[in-house]
Amino acid sequence: MRTPLIAGNWKMNGSLALVERFGEAFSQPEVRLPDGIDIALMVPAPYLEAARRAFSAGPLAFGGQTLHHERHGAFTGEISGAMLAEFGATYVLVGHSERRTLFGEDDAAVCARVKAALTERLTPVLCLGETLEERDAGRTEAVVLGQLEAVFDALSPEERDRLVIAYEPVWAIGTGRTATPEQAQAVHAALRARLADYDAGLAEGMRLLYGGSMKAANAAELLAQPDIDGGLIGGASLQVDDFLVICQSA
Ligand code: PGA
Repeated sequence: MRTPLIAGNWKMNGSLALVERFGEAFSQPEVRLPDGIDIALMVPAPYLEAARRAFSAGPLAFGGQTLHHERHGAFTGEISGAMLAEFGATYVLVGHSERRTLFGEDDAAVCARVKAALTERLTPVLCLGETLEERDAGRTEAVVLGQLEAVFDALSPEERDRLVIAYEPVWAIGTGRTATPEQAQAVHAALRARLADYDAGLAEGMRLLYGGSMKAANAAELLAQPDIDGGLIGGASLQVDDFLVICQSA
């Protein structure tokens, strides 16, 4: 069985105070969380050390939102996987649609970053998703499977096993417009079928998260789908109570 993963993506939001609030809320003994789920928050890089301290007593893991493919060098403003790992991060988002569209990360750049994350023993959360235009043109599967193959074709079988995938339709991110459970399940099933072409065990074990306006009110029905193994949550991961409810729905 796959261990569900509920991951928050704070993007360029949050504060030191919010890091502490999450740390406190999640370490209260009366907080009931389902057994056997993984929970993580992808915080802005300046908050990594605060997250390390605030989350150490509770169930929250944490990670970065991007990384550069080089370990160090003259790349002003960039963050390496080695730095994330040094602060105790265990995850890193790679290929989030905002990185792809606003910061020009193409499939080759995404692939190089996934490899860099694996080198540092971080778990890359590879984000995939189609735009509304692509969906309307009937190209959802072609786009999403193409993004998957661009990375998976370049990895060894052992490396492939170490990823998490997040399907995030671009039209659902930050728009309040969620994919229906059926729409999300259909894409997740297509992703798992494609993974089975690489290896049956890979497909069986791979955690496929849904992201795109997941919130307390819709998490349970999305997470109930057979191929949805967790969520990548933006806006609703900035509210302790909402994020707790989503974790409890897993
Ligand atoms: P959202 O963001 O939940 O605010 O739609 C999801 C994401 O971008 O990961």
